[in-house]
Amino acid sequence: MSTSAKDKAAHWIRPEIRTLKAYAVPDATGLIKLDAMENPYAFPDAMRSTWLRVLQQVDVNRYPDPAARRLKEALRSALAIPPSMSILLGNGSDELIQLIAMALAQPGRVVLAPVPTFVMYDMIATFTGMGFVGVPLTPDFDLDLPAMLTAIRQHRPAVIFLAYPNNPTGNLFDADALRDILKASDGLVVVDEAYHAFAGVSLMDQLGRYDNLVVMRTLSKQGLAGLRLGVLAGDAAWLDEFDKLRLPYNINSLTQASAEFALTHAPVLQAQAQRICSERERVFQALAALSGVRVWPSRANFILLRIESGDATRVHQGMRERGVLIKNLDHAGAALKGCLRVTIGTPEENTAMLLALAQALGNVPGVAP
Ligand SMILES: *Cc1c(COP(=O)(O)O)cnc(C)c1O
Repeated sequence: MSTSAKDKAAHWIRPEIRTLKAYAVPDATGLIKLDAMENPYAFPDAMRSTWLRVLQQVDVNRYPDPAARRLKEALRSALAIPPSMSILLGNGSDELIQLIAMALAQPGRVVLAPVPTFVMYDMIATFTGMGFVGVPLTPDFDLDLPAMLTAIRQHRPAVIFLAYPNNPTGNLFDADALRDILKASDGLVVVDEAYHAFAGVSLMDQLGRYDNLVVMRTLSKQGLAGLRLGVLAGDAAWLDEFDKLRLPYNINSLTQASAEFALTHAPVLQAQAQRICSERERVFQALAALSGVRVWPSRANFILLRIESGDATRVHQGMRERGVLIKNLDHAGAALKGCLRVTIGTPEENTAMLLALAQALGNVPGVAP
């Protein structure tokens, strides 16, 4: 790195960007990958062959449909988006969060969310020059409603993000508290339902009842993480404005064709989600039976646990050495001290994960931690 480039960059790059740490994705080569809430199941073989035939028809020399009309109609019926509501698609829901923040950003304005939660809300607030107000959850990770209402009055946030279920805690917030927040806020409220497939509850049918509510979904956690497709549903008054900031052709042709195809096979994805949910209950019971581990019930495709000894980083490393990659949250702030997050995989992967965890904890006689 040349010193003069370094000096110039240090001068011109905004200070809040220079102090950021890039979103780190660890290398998972050769490991059982249970760190990123991916669906462990690929398309069944017959479905995969049909999909590849669909892709053969895609003319990649042409730009994609800029409005993704056919895909949006398929999503409207698959996701039960009310006919009166608009749809905006993003290159993953991360891009939708970014579009929302860009549209609302102004000096002095803030993004508000309960914490701990999905880290991109905080990061994207910073990217767009907005402040971030994090309101701590209760010790059981539910919304602290009085604290939320006080913070809303005090900061008048331009946007509130509520992950439902929440990541990384896995729980669903109290539905009445969500409604109170919607009523108390005159800014936008984004309910992020990334884990809808595993939770079964939604605020989609509440659109239209609150003029500040939009609902966000993604296909990532349902088996299509590689496609990058996020979906925002809400009133055209909001979405038409966000759409102006969307780069043309943000949803590529292969993604449009593949997502449309996947939606015609929705029962396959639903059956996979069902398998993941039943494995989640088995893994939860097994984790709860381990001594030295505190575990929280989850409505998502992952489980949060705390290593009571506080040795989470050592346990995380011990599991990695045994071939299992999970997420270490030990350094992510006060409420997550000692915490790890495991994604639910196939039954075989989960069994391997549980064994690696027990060994790393030193709970298995005859195996050194
Ligand atoms: C994973 C996740 C997302 C991001 O999903 P993409 O569509 O893959 O960008 C958004 N919100 C929450 C709460 C998530 O956990």
